Amino acid sequence: MKKIIAVDGPAGAGKSTVCKIVAAKLNYTYIDTGAMYRAVGWKFLQTGENFSEELLQKIVNKIEIKLDAQAKVFVDNVEVTKSIRTPEVSKLASDVSKFGFVRKKLTELQRKMAESGKVIMDGRDIGTQVLPNADLKIFLTASLEERARRRFEELKLKNPAVELEKIQQEIFLRDKQDSEREIAPLKQADDAIFIDTTDLNIEQVAEKILELACNGK
Ligand code: C5P
Repeated sequence: MKKIIAVDGPAGAGKSTVCKIVAAKLNYTYIDTGAMYRAVGWKFLQTGENFSEELLQKIVNKIEIKLDAQAKVFVDNVEVTKSIRTPEVSKLASDVSKFGFVRKKLTELQRKMAESGKVIMDGRDIGTQVLPNADLKIFLTASLEERARRRFEELKLKNPAVELEKIQQEIFLRDKQDSEREIAPLKQADDAIFIDTTDLNIEQVAEKILELACNGK
């Protein structure tokens, strides 16, 4: 059985939904590293200040981020699980994730969280940087149109006024920024298994990963 599973891929590929299913089936801990970058972005938003690297550094020095067993997210003991899911925070998460000092702090935290094993962790740089020795690495993707459609269906439940085209554009720009940044860009690890989920449903993807985790096939 693979003890540490790393799942990377662009926005809206279904990583977190699939990882939660796999984690529940294997009795593993799911670690959503995107939520940690979102937490930093959210904390910045709370200041109401214009963006500056200096202020970001101050925030990162002090911030305390916790993920509990149910994947609830806490920033300085305030639950932010839902409030970090807005398009505004998505953009800010990507903006702050470019900075080396942000990545260093979160990468250290993520490695610590994976120390005990029996972990499935998702993000952009897990297989390449955070856990390069993971037992199983997956790169999950889907067409831009399909990823935008999935995100649209999800956001529509909370806000009926959301526009598909706008979401597609936001995802496109965020992936571009995440793939082109200098430090730990979104990239498939050489030894990762590529899964295109465009024509697969969540259960089929989870099944594939479970098979790989259990049988190595
Ligand atoms: O996965 P999610 O969409 O919640 O991630 C939000 C943002 O956090 C990404 O667009 C990316 O900029 C950043 N991120 C990262 N490295 C990770 C996970 C997320 O840079 N391992």
